[in-house]
Amino acid sequence: MRELKAFLESRRDEAAGLLAELIRFKSVAGEGEDEIQRFLAEKFRALGLEVSLELVPESIKEHPSYTRADRELDYSRRPNLFAAWKGSGPKSVILCAHSDVVPAGDWTEAFNPVIQNGRVIGRGAADDKGHIVSIYYALLALKELGRQPRKSVEVQVVIEEETGGNGALAAILTGHRADGVIVMESTDLSICPANRGAVWYKIEMQGVPVHMGRIREGVNAVEKMAEVIPVLRQYENKLIAESNHPLFREYEQPVQVNIGMIKGGDWPAMVAGWAEMEGGVGFLPTKSLEDVQKELTALLQNHPDPWVREKSKVSFPKLHNDAYETRLDDPLVTGLKESAVAAGASGKVTGLIVSCDARLYAKVGQMPTVVFGPDSIKQAHSREESLSIDEMVKASEIIARYLLA
Ligand SMILES: [Zn+2]
Repeated sequence: MRELKAFLESRRDEAAGLLAELIRFKSVAGEGEDEIQRFLAEKFRALGLEVSLELVPESIKEHPSYTRADRELDYSRRPNLFAAWKGSGPKSVILCAHSDVVPAGDWTEAFNPVIQNGRVIGRGAADDKGHIVSIYYALLALKELGRQPRKSVEVQVVIEEETGGNGALAAILTGHRADGVIVMESTDLSICPANRGAVWYKIEMQGVPVHMGRIREGVNAVEKMAEVIPVLRQYENKLIAESNHPLFREYEQPVQVNIGMIKGGDWPAMVAGWAEMEGGVGFLPTKSLEDVQKELTALLQNHPDPWVREKSKVSFPKLHNDAYETRLDDPLVTGLKESAVAAGASGKVTGLIVSCDARLYAKVGQMPTVVFGPDSIKQAHSREESLSIDEMVKASEIIARYLLA
């Protein structure tokens, strides 16, 4: 195994160069993934893997876990990439990363990568292109060292992670399966078999709009909405009280009920005839997405004010990311931990509080799933996003060891 480490170390600069090359593709989620997918297909094909590019089927739009974007998405280009290598043993694993990135915003140099102080800087370096490079170099190392993996491996480079996970959903629904899934996102090389969930709610309140001169005859929807807020705060306290989960103890408050937006009324001299409130709820895998949706609905249905009970409506039209957890004694968790420790990483096992594609593999695909990857999630989506080359190479070693074990 010393030769594995030495080999990867010798290809360090080359790996950083590949990451810089990937960053130059402006693969913004939902529009720009096509070219990078074809480029990567060639790279994996040249390694001798069995490669296919599969378009996301239009029928995916009917699936309950499909994420709607602000605009209708076109799936006639932008394929998912699959690259398979058969192992000598009976077990299999999917290694998943995504090629789409969030927009550059006001970062003019986002797609002009720089390599500096042991880091590659550019949009997508830490989310998630460095992770594609980690996977690629793990497989390259095995090829060049003449080692066949014991586990059969399928690399999946998916599209549209940043807009909600439709690429991964398509991969799952078209039947790609394995005994375990490693979703590559930055976790400081910790192994994350559990993920917090998040759901966005929308509450609509009716009122009776009248001119303020006849204020007693109206019903003010904004004031009625205000009565909902203390009930939401109580609900947050309940979630906190129920959130004692061993994998989330390191977080100060892993669950939340947020009030994000309130709108209502039409005119200063009118009693507000309508109000709308939108917000988010973060929850642990001790609850399902459905539980949270039911509990929020019940809060309004059981509200002490009969007006709120009858004239309000809650819905969940936007983000709906389920929480999940994979058993700690699953071979995926124990095996990856062993490989991490063997490579000199901590092998820490912990929960994750940001959402990614993992929930889909775990919940829709019903496969044991962990999130794992180099460097810190703090880098993702930031201006000056960057990735540590050391960590990227370390992740390659851990993956290669896991495939051999
Ligand atoms: Zn990501």
